[in-house]
Amino acid sequence: MLKTPDTKLLREAGEGTRGANLVAGNRVDAASGERIDVVCPSDGAVFASIPRSAAVDVDAAVAAARTAFENRPWARMTATERGRSLTRLGELVDRHRDELAALESRDTGKPARQGVADVAAAIRYFEYYGGAADKVHGDQIPFLDGYTVFTTREPHGVVAGIIPWNYPLQILARVAGAALAMGNTLVVKPAEDASLTALRVAELALEAGIPPGVLNVVTGYGAEAGAALSAHPGIDYVTFTGSPATGTAIQAAAAKNNRGVTMELGGKSPQVVFADADLDAALPVVVNAIIQNGGQTCSAGSRVLVEKPVYDDFVSALAKRFSALLAEPHYADGDLGPLINARQAGRVASMIAGAEAAGIPVLARGAVAADAPSGGHYQAPVLFGPVDPQAVIAREEVFGPVLAAFPFDGEEEAVRLANGTEYGLVAGVWTRDGGRQHRVARRIRAGQVYVNGYGAGGGVELPFGGFGKSGHGREKGFEALIDMSATRTIVFNHG
Ligand code: NAD
Repeated sequence: MLKTPDTKLLREAGEGTRGANLVAGNRVDAASGERIDVVCPSDGAVFASIPRSAAVDVDAAVAAARTAFENRPWARMTATERGRSLTRLGELVDRHRDELAALESRDTGKPARQGVADVAAAIRYFEYYGGAADKVHGDQIPFLDGYTVFTTREPHGVVAGIIPWNYPLQILARVAGAALAMGNTLVVKPAEDASLTALRVAELALEAGIPPGVLNVVTGYGAEAGAALSAHPGIDYVTFTGSPATGTAIQAAAAKNNRGVTMELGGKSPQVVFADADLDAALPVVVNAIIQNGGQTCSAGSRVLVEKPVYDDFVSALAKRFSALLAEPHYADGDLGPLINARQAGRVASMIAGAEAAGIPVLARGAVAADAPSGGHYQAPVLFGPVDPQAVIAREEVFGPVLAAFPFDGEEEAVRLANGTEYGLVAGVWTRDGGRQHRVARRIRAGQVYVNGYGAGGGVELPFGGFGKSGHGREKGFEALIDMSATRTIVFNHG
């Protein structure tokens, strides 16, 4: 377990940083010279800046990635050597863990220990994909008499990674780990709200021996740098994590060039608690699954479905926990930090107000710490219940510390409610009945189902991705290596 950085570092991390794009191994500004202020969500203060890149900057990054791919310093390296470079990058992230954890925490507002957990995950991604790089191989396929057929796994070429602000370091590592392990080169566009750790890791990648141009990062707004990247004809594949609306725009742009995509688009994930469950074990996990990262987690457990005989008891225990929760600055190292920015805080507050106006009962409301700086974007956590399954708060992603509770009667209704949204990312099933564990886990339409637990996206080894509006393709685990490559079939005629 890594330790939490000290308060001074948490308050001062990245102070005065003049972030630069990393293109072909060089630190460069946007051609226009324009910059974006970096704001700490805990106090609203500007503490750094990053380039406001435009299409011309994206062109340069894509050209650098293309050159690095075509000259093949990376793809021509043995898979073992590529793997070793990724492993070294993981070691460098580990060596800089305090700096990176504090920077991630200050840039996103997440509580310090979440920043530490994100660094640990990033290290694991590079370690896992470093080790996996030389374990992906093709097949030999029986075919007609006189023929020998085999397949190889080939990189797509230049991959674009458009990543969100909620877990920038982890998501950069998961995208870069899988894409680079397979011999692709990469252009990453981090979110305008939180780009600093992605820029730092790209610098460390050079130190780790990853050749210049293999991992490029350009910062900027989605409508500018992001749109230019996803529509760029020089891109061979796009991987995106973020909102469904932006995912649709990115898919439309990529479709104009007929490029493949991986989409990870959020969820409305249910935790299903049966009356025979170990309720004491379920309680803290259900709470944590919605307050982790302030609920700004694609896999947040934002719905809790509770079987009627235990609904009142379980929901009162939840209410007690919610009432005791405090939203605090990242450096307080509590359970709950501020939300990323004023727009997100406004969106969450208006969804809460909408649910209240619709007459949905508030079972509990936490508080904002009295000493939380007034410039920060704090939202007290709210527990609603019982919630009408047709209500907005029951169907739409809030992306804040808001939990909706629903009573249910038996297995059929549990499955129907669990599958009652357009999303399908993660689910938790709590029951001691072994048969029911299997039945329900197989019937809930979600990319990951946890039985008597909840992983909020799970370990780096576990394939992760959605059904329906939650997206398609899989990140993490070995499956990401398949998504990040394509099969080539080679047919020999010996005749
Ligand atoms: P977003 O999806 O718009 O942003 C994610 C990334 O996409 C950022 O890097 C952004 O710059 C980029 N982007 C935005 N518009 C683009 C475009 N037209 N073309 C290419 N790239 C573009 O997310 P947001 O606006 O910051 O947040 C809005 C909502 O999205 C949140 O309230 C939440 O519901 C959801 N969200 C989900 C996740 C997730 O992990 N699933 C992450 C962030 C946000």
